[in-house]
Amino acid sequence: MVGAGPGGLTAAMILAHRGFEVEVFEARDRVGGRNACLELGPHRFDTGPTFLMMRYILDEVFEEAGADSSRCLRFVELDPMYRLQFRDTAIRSSTDHERMRQEIAEAFPGREDSFQRFFAAEGRRFRRMAPCLQKHYSTLGSFFSLDLMRVLPYLSLGRSVFDVLEGYFGDPRLALAFSFQSKYLGMSPWECPGAFSMLSYIEYAYGVYHTIGGLSAISDAMAEVARANGVLIHLDTPVSRVLVENGSARGVALADGSRIEADEVVINADFAHAMENLVAPEALRKYTAEGLQKRRFSCSIFMLYLGLDTVYSHLPHHTIYFADDYRHNVDAIFGSGELCEDTSFYVRNAVVTDDTLAPAGHSGLYVLVPVPNLRAGTDWSREAKGFRDLVMSKLRTRAGLADIEAHITHEHMITPQDWRDDYRVYAGAVFNLAHTVRQMLYLRPRNRFEEFDHAYLVGGGTHPGSGLPTIYESGRIAANLISRRHRVPFTSANRHA
Ligand SMILES: Cc1cc2nc3c(=O)[nH]c(=O)nc-3n(C[C@H](O)[C@H](O)[C@H](O)COP(=O)(O)OP(=O)(O)OC[C@H]3O[C@@H](n4cnc5c(N)ncnc54)[C@H](O)[C@@H]3O)c2cc1C
Repeated sequence: MVGAGPGGLTAAMILAHRGFEVEVFEARDRVGGRNACLELGPHRFDTGPTFLMMRYILDEVFEEAGADSSRCLRFVELDPMYRLQFRDTAIRSSTDHERMRQEIAEAFPGREDSFQRFFAAEGRRFRRMAPCLQKHYSTLGSFFSLDLMRVLPYLSLGRSVFDVLEGYFGDPRLALAFSFQSKYLGMSPWECPGAFSMLSYIEYAYGVYHTIGGLSAISDAMAEVARANGVLIHLDTPVSRVLVENGSARGVALADGSRIEADEVVINADFAHAMENLVAPEALRKYTAEGLQKRRFSCSIFMLYLGLDTVYSHLPHHTIYFADDYRHNVDAIFGSGELCEDTSFYVRNAVVTDDTLAPAGHSGLYVLVPVPNLRAGTDWSREAKGFRDLVMSKLRTRAGLADIEAHITHEHMITPQDWRDDYRVYAGAVFNLAHTVRQMLYLRPRNRFEEFDHAYLVGGGTHPGSGLPTIYESGRIAANLISRRHRVPFTSANRHA
């Protein structure tokens, strides 16, 4: 297994539970990848994911590894889930439909009935589409399966997430409040395929969770289950090559020069990074350097992690601040590539839910700003300082934290260049290949890798896609493909397909 991110850990813990001998080689000094813990003095931050959606998938993959997620982790369902802050109005999103009605009535009077319309229609779409996200689509036959044929009318082909949501809500800003989730896929709501309108439905139907200790606690718990099942996890052990002979993966070469033979190789390293750096070009036809150039990739993210000697108890757990001209900001990220002064951003203030992340009286703010990926050509070694100051001014003015700079005791920044260099993410595109219609399902790099045999892909760059629940699904799909190939019977804990 190459990499101990959420995708690799899922596959490892399930396969080991089914009796496979599994070894994981992880380049960094800890498990979790983009979902690892980041420590700054006494502060603990999540490097990446802070929203756990579709918790039931996580519960199922633990069950399939012979473990009980609620014994390994302490879950907190957030209600309100998050605050959506426009310049002059706000919505606190809740899974309580009556409360949602009231929130919309207050912020967007006259539009309150639209929520039920949205919820009913997107629920129908989700029930149709969920089985497609759990299949492997390794063959053309599976692509033309009955499930997929049934789902075609629900794909909203030719319509974007924004189009679909504006259809329910009638008001562009209210539509944005339900479409910002396309950023989870690193895409513009004006480009993201309409089918992904179900993302916000999923939150309103199944809730958003935090885990005590941060979402990185999930990676740590997965590693613990994997080790208990017999997996050997080698940290600080980068893989330098996937060994491919006669069209089949035979194992991996490590950076120290040693060779590890394996019957099956699972690649969790960022997909495009792995193609560019870990696979000899002659083993590839589709995903060569030129092939990758033709693909579309997600946006990147500029991150600030701030350790504070105070607690802003009025600031909710999750707040999303919309740019005044949201469309311009999105077009800049995905089009012109410029850095906008009027930018959207997200702040997590987890101390209001979880006091384990900082000493008493202290707290940590996690600030995320979507920015263009490195294809835009920004030189972050020049821009980072100015952009950090811009973000600080947003925290003072938009978030109302006028004295924030006086309270910073620890600070860390991750720019798109750092995602590429330190986290091995192609073009710093942290949400991987874009989820366009041409890069979805059978057309996305497949879990049973199509370029050579005995190789499997897991993680956000493969099917079903970026985001923790779909990444867990990729790990489960790969584990099932390998189990079937070796005729190892298994029972599925999947209760939703
Ligand atoms: C800032 C940010 C916020 C996000 N927020 C959310 C959120 O709220 N909710 C959500 O569901 N998703 C979120 N995501 C998206 C996604 O869930 C995470 O990025 C997730 O961690 C990706 O998992 P992965 O398994 O695909 O890859 P990774 O987490 O990147 O794991 C890949 C692993 O492979 C290792 N590796 C790479 N190359 C090698 C090599 N040569 N040898 C050995 N090991 C190697 C890496 O070190 C890494 O540990 C967020 C992502 C980011 C970056």
